[in-house]
Amino acid sequence: MYFQDEPEHITMLRNSLQRFIEKEAPREKIRAWDKIAYFPRTELFDKYGPMGITGLTVEEKYGGAGIDIVAAIAVVEEFAKRGGAVAAPYIHCAFYGGLNIGENGSQAQKQEFLPKIARGELVFAYGLSEPDVGGDLASVMTTARLSADGAKVIVNGTKRWCTAIKDADWLFCLCKSDADAPRYQNLSMVLIPAKSPGITVHTIDHSCIRYAQTTDAILENVEVPVENVLGGTEGWNNGWKMLAGRALDVEKLETAACALGIAWAAVDDAWEYAQERKQFGKPISAHQAVRHALVEAKTKLQACRHMLYHAAWLANEGRPCSVETSMAKLFVADTGVEIVMMCQRVMGAYGLAVDYDMERYLRDIVCFPIVGGSSNMQRNNIAARLRLAT
Ligand SMILES: Cc1cc2nc3c(=O)[nH]c(=O)nc-3n(C[C@H](O)[C@H](O)[C@H](O)COP(=O)(O)OP(=O)(O)OC[C@H]3O[C@@H](n4cnc5c(N)ncnc54)[C@H](O)[C@@H]3O)c2cc1C
Repeated sequence: MYFQDEPEHITMLRNSLQRFIEKEAPREKIRAWDKIAYFPRTELFDKYGPMGITGLTVEEKYGGAGIDIVAAIAVVEEFAKRGGAVAAPYIHCAFYGGLNIGENGSQAQKQEFLPKIARGELVFAYGLSEPDVGGDLASVMTTARLSADGAKVIVNGTKRWCTAIKDADWLFCLCKSDADAPRYQNLSMVLIPAKSPGITVHTIDHSCIRYAQTTDAILENVEVPVENVLGGTEGWNNGWKMLAGRALDVEKLETAACALGIAWAAVDDAWEYAQERKQFGKPISAHQAVRHALVEAKTKLQACRHMLYHAAWLANEGRPCSVETSMAKLFVADTGVEIVMMCQRVMGAYGLAVDYDMERYLRDIVCFPIVGGSSNMQRNNIAARLRLAT
């Protein structure tokens, strides 16, 4: 696969997405939505199904286009160039829903959910983090227990940073399902309707990727049928395998694709700005320090792109790729921060003005070394996978 052109269908896809963005997601709209942390379900998300892109993570037998991870990652990248409000609704359906259920769902869950995901009808939220649990997800304290007749699952606990639950149809809730079982064998992922009785939601105000409200979701005696355990009855106490499996590999890629898109947009804006802004009688792009900064940013961007798409290609081929996906997540997120900061400096004070997008890119990019498995967690994963002695 060394040095091939991008497949033509993906280039065509990018072109049509760019046209869509220019028409449906102008910069002013994204800025306005960012201010109020608005999830554009009707304005954008409802159009994704008819475009065929939510089917890119669903097999044809369930009504999808067939799984094409490279194409789906390209969608995230293109959408993220304009903003989280464009990319994230896609991720909450095609990745959180499509890949996760396609990989880990029971037969009944695949038949129920995947056709609707392919049609772009469902939004999923993730309830993994908790007030006392961040990277150490195996320590979640939200409990899931079976009712006396075994027909229902009853969930209690608090999920933190639960993004877009107010706009979602379903919540994936990671629960401790057996207090006595060993670590990693005591977790279940439960699919809970997002508006279930017993769920109360409090907004957490924050500064980055404001495409929806992020919340504390408190679950008090929330009841769902036992069939809602992800993977069905076989999924009971098997949640860790689902979290750490192939769906996680792709989750790292989708997060990296967002970071790449944001960094790309920052370089584009700074590149253009530097040729228009004049100081000392010439465009600032003519000053060597600024030229070098822009070229360095573009070079780093190219490295990020190679890392990401190589890992995406491995995942698409079904090859083992947890090292490469962790490396891509680590490198693109950390380098993305460097790139955007360089671009902000090129734009000087205007790189911090709210009428320009650069200040949003800066606010957004800083969360990528944290979310989707922090950079340190990726370093830990890579060291462990490569069996570095402890
Ligand atoms: C805007 C936003 C949206 C989010 N949306 C969601 C969501 O929808 N659903 C959800 O479940 N969560 C969500 N999160 C939470 C996110 O997944 C967590 O922030 C992330 O998992 C890290 O957890 P933490 O912030 O509690 O950091 P911690 O785990 O407390 O880590 C803090 C620092 O310590 C380091 N550290 C921790 N353990 C180790 C270790 N073993 N070795 C080396 N370093 C370590 C970390 O790298 C980090 O730098 C969101 C977060 C943000 C900011």
